[in-house]
Amino acid sequence: MTSLYHDIIFGPVHSRRLGLSLGVNLLPTESKLCSFDCIYCECGWNAEHPGRRRFNARADVARLLEETLRRMVADGTPPNVITFAGNGEPTMHPEFEAIIGDTLALRDALCPTAKVSVLSNATQIGREEVRRALMRVDNNILKLDSAFDETVRLMNNPMGSYTVAETVRNMQLFDGRLIVQTMFLRGECNGRTIDNTTEEEVAAWLELIARIRPSKVMVYSLDRDTPCQTLEKVDKEELRRIAARVEALGIPCPVA
Ligand code: SF4
Repeated sequence: MTSLYHDIIFGPVHSRRLGLSLGVNLLPTESKLCSFDCIYCECGWNAEHPGRRRFNARADVARLLEETLRRMVADGTPPNVITFAGNGEPTMHPEFEAIIGDTLALRDALCPTAKVSVLSNATQIGREEVRRALMRVDNNILKLDSAFDETVRLMNNPMGSYTVAETVRNMQLFDGRLIVQTMFLRGECNGRTIDNTTEEEVAAWLELIARIRPSKVMVYSLDRDTPCQTLEKVDKEELRRIAARVEALGIPCPVA
C-alpha cells in the first residue's frame, strides 16, 4: 500500500541519520502532484490521484510551520532538520523561492541549529528562481537515477521534456552545492525490464557524478511499498560497493 501525507507539516520523525526531522509538504494533502511518476514512488502512481491538485498556500505553510516550531522549541525538542518532501515535487510550487525565504527566517529566529533540506527530482532546476532558492538551503538534494534517458523514462516517467544532459548541465551550475541522490533497483514493471545496477549503468553514472562534483552522493534502494510490486531491492552490500566507487572520486557517499 502506497500512502500520502495528509498534512502540510508532518512528523516529526526520528532517524538515526538525520535526528529529529520535521516535514513540509507543499503539495496537495489529498493528492499527488509531481513532474515525475517514478515506479518506486511511495505516494503511488500519478493517475491514482485525479483529485484536487492545489498547492498549499504560502501563508498557511508559514503559519503552520511557525506554530509547530514554537511548540517544539517550548517542549525542548527543536527539530534537527526541516525537510521539504511530501506528495510530489516541492520546487513546482509557484512561490517556492518565497517559501524557502520564509522558512529560513523562521529557522533563524526560532531554532537556528536546524538544517533545511529539500528533496527534489531536479526537473525544475533550469529555472533561475528555483536554483536561487536551492542555493540558500543547507541540503539541496537532487535526484539522478541514471545516465541514460531511456532508463530515466523507465524508472521516473518524466511528464514533460527531460534529458539527462540538460539536468547534468543545470546541476553543474550549483558549483558543488548539491547532494545527488540515486535509487538503485532492478526488476520488471509493466512488462519492461529495468536495471540501473549493471556495469554499463554504474560506470556511466559515475562519469556524470565526477562531472557534477556534488558535496555528497546518497545511494539507496527500495524501502517502503511501491506502486510496482515486481521490483527487487538492491542489498546493502551491493550499494556499499557502488558507494566505494563514488568515494574513490573523493566524494562522500553514505548508504541509506
Ligand atoms: S520524484 Fe519523488 S514524488 Fe515524484 S514520482 Fe518520483 S518518488 Fe514520487
